[in-house]
This record gives sequence, structure tokens and C-alpha cells, in this order.
Amino acid sequence: MKFSDRILKVKPSPTIAVTSMASLLKSQGVDIIGFGAGEPDFDTPKNIREAGIKAIETGKTRYTPSGGLPELRNAIVTKFKRDNNLEYKPSEVIVNCGGKHSFYNLMQVLLNDGDEVIIPAPYWVSYPDMVLLAGGKPVIINTEAEAGFKITPAQLEASITSKTRAVVINSPSNPTGAAYSFDELKALAEVIEKTDIIAISDDIYETILFDGFKFSNIANVSDTMKKRTVVLNGCSKTYAMTGWRIGYMAGDQELIAKIDILQGQSTSNPTTISQWAAIEALTGDQSVLAEMMVAFERRRNFVIKELNSMPGVTCYNPEGAFYAFPGVSGVYDLKEWNKVSEKYKDQYKSSSLCAYLMEEAKTAVVPGIAFGNDGYFRMSFATSDENLKEGLKRIREALEKLV
Ligand code: PLP
Repeated sequence: MKFSDRILKVKPSPTIAVTSMASLLKSQGVDIIGFGAGEPDFDTPKNIREAGIKAIETGKTRYTPSGGLPELRNAIVTKFKRDNNLEYKPSEVIVNCGGKHSFYNLMQVLLNDGDEVIIPAPYWVSYPDMVLLAGGKPVIINTEAEAGFKITPAQLEASITSKTRAVVINSPSNPTGAAYSFDELKALAEVIEKTDIIAISDDIYETILFDGFKFSNIANVSDTMKKRTVVLNGCSKTYAMTGWRIGYMAGDQELIAKIDILQGQSTSNPTTISQWAAIEALTGDQSVLAEMMVAFERRRNFVIKELNSMPGVTCYNPEGAFYAFPGVSGVYDLKEWNKVSEKYKDQYKSSSLCAYLMEEAKTAVVPGIAFGNDGYFRMSFATSDENLKEGLKRIREALEKLV
């Protein structure tokens, strides 16, 4: 069969592939511990679940406006004011079917063939492919743990061409957990303000921050910057609502109107029931977030300490999100590494390492190459303390065999 050039350029999501492989092995009775998925292990809080049930039982099960219920758009406006000190009108926000859909829609309305989007690496696996699907060209800026996994104003400036349409800022980041301070964002804004490019601020991990780190958005830097920023957020990570599929964006009214047209001719509205649950999430009791944070911070502390004491591993201490992104170049230098690379023969070392950990340690982690850097792997710590303890013990034992 013949397929479009567009779809042939796109790779399957590696995180979904690792998670599916882990589920398959589990279903065959293999005792796999999965650290692949990027989702909280908590249930959606009760008040939010109840809002969903109430929507079903009171007949709120029909179409809504394609860009979302007016009540939800108002709730999003309130959230931006309350949490981010950003003022938007309801016509400047839109609800999409998950944060991934938000970014996908944005690429579809922004890009013409060959337009460039700057993506700092390590990056969320889906950004480059969604740029490609829209006919655009991902322009990658590499960052390393030593630089806090953050791009500098000079790197940004050097990557901008006449084709650049946008730069993605994902803070705290998936997969590194690195987060930008206000001053760092201000320095990047100085470069952006001199051009006509857009900043895409992906704030999906905004509430998951450690050691009292204060979240800032580049849109807070100046009025000019606010006009030039599209803020992307959603309920998936903050409220443990990954399956409900609610994402949203705020930005220029004309741009939002174009996304509304695209959505009206593609998915139509995000699920009505989920929208009512999202209203409760955004406007209801926020104290559950603090409870989840206590668990995330405890797990972060444990995981980073453990990883840093394993042979060949050095792990950046993330400011936020729920991922550890250990550097494993030292593992590739261990005496017995050759046995792993000969056995798995993958063109990428991080893929061979993850295949080894899946087979030898029965743990599922994602190769760094999926995020643009072969010297790392990603493990999610959004799972139980027992799983973390057992899984890390197994990873340690597997790595010790390579010494
Ligand atoms: N942005 C980042 C950086 C993510 O890691 C994810 C999910 O993994 C999303 C956006 C989208 O989340 P969802 O589509 O589940 O709302």
C-alpha cells in the first residue's frame, strides 16, 4: 500500500513502545517493573472523579463547542490568573484532547513546509515528530547535564534563521526535570524579543517542583513576551488525569481562532465528561497536589541518590517533573560492556543498555536516544516506593555485572 510522505517521516513513540513491551511481558507472566510511562501512579482525585460521574448522570454527554465549554475556558482563565499572574480572555484560550493534541494542533496552524522549530535536547519524544508531521523542520540544540540541561541565549541566537517560527521551552522538562529560573527565561526573552519568533511554553509539569523551586513562565517577562508566547498546559500530570485527555493552550486570539477551526474540522470537542471533570480539577480543592508532591519529592531523593552510587552512572538532580535522567557514558566504559553491545547489536548504545536492563534486570526504562542523547536513559519515578526500591536494586545488580 502507498502512504503519505508525511507519515513515513514519523517514528512510533519510543516511550509507548517500551511501556507496551513491559505490559506484554507482564501479561506473559514475566515479573517486569515498568519505569517507562510518563504518568502519575495516583488515582485521579475523588472530587474530580465525582464531577465526571455527575456529568454523566446529569446528561452532560453531548457535543460542546469544539474549542471547549465556556465554563472550562473561564476556569482556565481563572487558573492562569491565580497560578501564573497571566491575564487572558476566554477567546485567548482553547481546550484540546490532551497536551499532545495541543502541540500537534499548534504545529498544524503555525508551520509551512520547511519552517523551523527550535527544540532543546534532551526533548520530549513527540516534539520533533509533530513538527515533521506538519511539514516543518526540527532544529535541535543539544544541552548536557553540566549545563543544567538548559540552553543559553547565545545558543538560541545562533540557531535562529529566517525560517524559524518558534522555540520550545519545556520547564520543568521531560526527560531531564531541569527547570528555568525567571532570570534564565528573561535572558532568553531578550533574544526572542529581537526577532519575530514565538515561544512555546510547555508547562505541563508546572506543579511538580522540588526544594521550593519557584515556577516562572517566559510570558511573565514582559508584555511583548506575553504576546509572543503560546502557553501549553493540561490536566494529565498535575491532576493524575492522563486518561481523561484534557490539554489547553493560551495565546494570541487569532492563533487560537485558527486552532478552533482546525479542531472543528478534525476531532471536534474534547470529551464532554472530561471537560466537566477538568473544571473541578482547575477550580476545586488544590490541596491534593501538595500530597502528591510529598511522595514525588521523597521518591526523587531516593532515586537520584541510588542512581549516583551505581557503577558508571551520574545523575542530574532534577528541579521538577517525575523523571530521573541518569548519564550512563561511564557504563559504556565498563570492562564487560562489550558483551552487552555484542549481544544486542543496536546502533545506539542506550538502546542496547535498555534491552540489557529489560532482560537482565527485568526493568523497563527508555533509551536516551529517544530524547536525543545516547549517553542517558530515562526512568520515571511516578511509581510506588516498593517498585522503586526493587527496580533500582535490580538495575544496580545488572550494572555491577559489567564492572
Ligand atoms: N508535554 C510534555 C513535555 C509531556 O511529557 C507530555 C506527556 O508525556 C505532554 C506534553 C502531553 O501530555 P498529554 O497529552 O497526556 O496531556
